[in-house]
Amino acid sequence: MTSVMWFRRDLRGHDNEALAAACADGPCVPLFVLDPVFLERAGPARLWFLFGALESLNDTLGGTLVVRAGDPVEVVPAVAHEAAAEAVYVAKDFAPYGRRRDMAVAAVLKKSGVRLGGVGSPYAVEPGSVTKDDGSPYAVFTPFYKRWSPLLTPLGESDPLHSLLVAPGAVRTQPLPPRPKLDVELPTPTETAAHERWEWFADNALSGYYEKRNTPGIDGTSKLSMYLRFGLLHPKQLIADLVIDGTKATKDHEHFRSELCWREFYADVLFHQPNTAWENLQSKMVAMRVDTDGRAKARFEKWCRGETGYPIVDAGMRQLLRTGWMHNRMRMITASFLVKDLHLPWQWGARHFMRHLVDGDIASNNHGWQWTAGTGTDAAPYFRIFNPQSQSEKFDPNGTYIREFVPELADCPTRQIHFPGAGGFAGYATPMVDHSVEREESLARYKAVSGK
Ligand SMILES: Cc1cc2nc3c(=O)[nH]c(=O)nc-3n(C[C@H](O)[C@H](O)[C@H](O)COP(=O)(O)OP(=O)(O)OC[C@H]3O[C@@H](n4cnc5c(N)ncnc54)[C@H](O)[C@@H]3O)c2cc1C
Repeated sequence: MTSVMWFRRDLRGHDNEALAAACADGPCVPLFVLDPVFLERAGPARLWFLFGALESLNDTLGGTLVVRAGDPVEVVPAVAHEAAAEAVYVAKDFAPYGRRRDMAVAAVLKKSGVRLGGVGSPYAVEPGSVTKDDGSPYAVFTPFYKRWSPLLTPLGESDPLHSLLVAPGAVRTQPLPPRPKLDVELPTPTETAAHERWEWFADNALSGYYEKRNTPGIDGTSKLSMYLRFGLLHPKQLIADLVIDGTKATKDHEHFRSELCWREFYADVLFHQPNTAWENLQSKMVAMRVDTDGRAKARFEKWCRGETGYPIVDAGMRQLLRTGWMHNRMRMITASFLVKDLHLPWQWGARHFMRHLVDGDIASNNHGWQWTAGTGTDAAPYFRIFNPQSQSEKFDPNGTYIREFVPELADCPTRQIHFPGAGGFAGYATPMVDHSVEREESLARYKAVSGK
């Protein structure tokens, strides 16, 4: 029986359960659809990485990858028809757009007697599987993590039989669009590079991860998020290498696994409440006053460009624009600044991040934003207002990170670098707002909706 393997967030040839299932059925046509919905929202860095990953996948599959642009609801059935396929295999998608799209594709395929088969997912444990005893979902991370851990299963034997891939030319394909020109060098978008980065991290930085993961000026986190986003790596591959036995020596491994679980937690929250992609999870926060007028828009532009006059915030925003990635601590600091110092809607910031982050993921991004904005799953929500100056002193004590991304401050003395202030440092912006004033404003707005 011929089948189509429709790749989406699983751009790898190895340890790919859906590909293995497709090849086990007989000849298989591997397909990727260039969906305009994704292409329109993604910035150049994301596209560069995606197109590179597709080139690499095509090489892994011996040049057999079929690429077609258009609405998947039309393209997938058309390719299935051309290939005379009886089934289309996918790794299941749990995000709101993906679920709607897959239901629409399945309905059209069904009319021609073709089955859409979901095998595996981008997660170690599928969203929707971790529930309380009464079957309801978790809204808080720690109990979710406790339930998630025992559900982990090892990777199956799933290396596909590439010999069963249909020879190139059997189904019409189109060239991949050229990769956008970038000023920076992004990580190599191949499965091999993903494994090499993991090996480097496991050998050099995993030990000490618990302490170092908060320091943006050092290479102390895995930087695997973009590989996980596009599925060049699967989390089960990483979890299989971790040593978890509860002893002190494995604390870093355990913590790394818990970070992987945050990704799964947010996917689960979004699966159960798809509306929370763009709506506040905590409904009482809908009444919270946010600014959206002309002045707010001008402030937003400054934040996007990294010209707030707060060095740590500007360094984060410029790291995003320059590298397509931002350190987790910096994502929290810059997000807090947008919501609690500028009083702008978190959705504005989330959209900007989604465009520029190569790892942009609707669940992790939008719920990371909601956590920081105090509208989401954080149990200690709105009172957590990051002070940019003290965050900078604590997590970038020597100003290493700031100097890397804010060249105007390259020669600024360390004692001044965390907050040059109104007096300023030659060539660097003066603070666009006064943090202590805006903090009070934020708390007053919160009190108006919560009474606290
Ligand atoms: C406002 C905001 C927006 C974010 N947007 C995204 C996003 O679009 N895509 C994304 O993958 N992550 C996002 N995160 C989570 C986190 O910042 C990144 O996953 C992390 O910085 C990626 O770097 P790393 O691979 O070196 O992480 P590591 O510290 O090495 O962690 C390993 C992996 O665990 C997962 N992980 C770690 N922390 C988190 C977390 N807090 N939430 C969810 N998963 C986590 C990621 O898959 C990461 O690759 C966001 C966080 C915030 C606060």
